[in-house]
Amino acid sequence: MQTGKRFRAYPTPAQEKILLRWIGHQRFIYNAKVSEDRYYRAFAKKAVSLSGTPVPVDQEYARFIGPETSWLREVPSPILRNGAVRWKQAYARFFSGLARRPTFKGKDGRQSVWITSELFSFRTNDETHCEELILGTKKFPLGVLSFKAQTPYSRPASLHVSVEAGKWFVSFSSDDGLPEPKEEDTISWLRMLSEEELEGKTLGFDRGVVTPVMVSSGRRIDFSDIQKSRMEKKERSRKRWQRKLARQQKGSQNRKKTKRRLSRSFEYVKNVRKDVIHKATRDFVSDSDRTLFVVEDLKVKHMTRSPEPKKDESGRYVRNGARAKAGLNRAILASCWGLFVVLLSYKARRAGKLVLKVSPQFSSQECARCGHIHPDNRPSQAGFVCQRCGLTDNADHNASRVIAKRGIRLLLEGNAPGAGSENSKR
Ligand SMILES: [Zn+2]
Repeated sequence: MQTGKRFRAYPTPAQEKILLRWIGHQRFIYNAKVSEDRYYRAFAKKAVSLSGTPVPVDQEYARFIGPETSWLREVPSPILRNGAVRWKQAYARFFSGLARRPTFKGKDGRQSVWITSELFSFRTNDETHCEELILGTKKFPLGVLSFKAQTPYSRPASLHVSVEAGKWFVSFSSDDGLPEPKEEDTISWLRMLSEEELEGKTLGFDRGVVTPVMVSSGRRIDFSDIQKSRMEKKERSRKRWQRKLARQQKGSQNRKKTKRRLSRSFEYVKNVRKDVIHKATRDFVSDSDRTLFVVEDLKVKHMTRSPEPKKDESGRYVRNGARAKAGLNRAILASCWGLFVVLLSYKARRAGKLVLKVSPQFSSQECARCGHIHPDNRPSQAGFVCQRCGLTDNADHNASRVIAKRGIRLLLEGNAPGAGSENSKR
């Protein structure tokens, strides 16, 4: 199974220049594959009989090097090839339901280059006895890239060098020799347990209206107050840059500047979100008591629920405090859920655990204790009161418990498709 470790790297200015070129050239090939794929799909859709050829999902890239793109030869060829391979891997992830179809990689945010074993080697420095990483080839030497390893590592099969906000990193991926756990094995092991035992091993997750994710254990995954107020500030500046952009002349230098500022204002929100979700999913998957994770099978598009508008006694709409924040919430929450499910599925699979997707129908109106389904069970946006058995709970928490139960039922009834399986292909 592939495992990875990430360390800070400290390239010299000259090395930075070379690495940025490697990154840019690999991205060029990746994006060329994306646009080629788009072209083929658009063309094939219109006239399958005319084109006759299926969409090529290969890792060929030589056709992108022509007279106008001869600058691509400024880098070692494995750099270019790996761009095509990366695209193909991203495509495979899309096919297995783990990610969306590959899209263009932009020039903003985290940038990285995938470097395979032809382009690096390790040696032990005779004086310091430290291990040194040498990058490049005879024709394209980069020299020793210094990095700081906080934890022991084994020499990797391939590595990524990345840069984000001026900080450089090197990530080692290596094969630990262990086979990746199989989903079928997990399923058949879980099926041997009783329903009560399963309940102790299961966590249900609900996409809350105000909280990004509510867990049936009672935990909420949410941002800290500081993060929230910073995100709101960023959101305001983002709107300001967007308005400015609309007024500026297309192609002008100032417009480019604004565009860069705009994407930078996204950066913070994106990073915070990733951070919070990475940490939470790591916690869930590393909890040895939990093996089954259940999520609603939501299409990301349909997920943007907003707080219901309030009416006063005369039936007129009043300003709803929650509504003011809804715009921001909507934007941040929507993207949280998708990322959460992807990361949870990915980490669970590697840990030999299971993620199931269940139908979201009426999950917000169903009682987690007795199963009674009625709209009256929801006297308010946030509250749940079962009209049959009297169970009182927070609405999101009740829903996450309902989801957990549905997952257990799906597993025991058999025919349980995992979130990463073919059945959930978008
Ligand atoms: Zn009930």
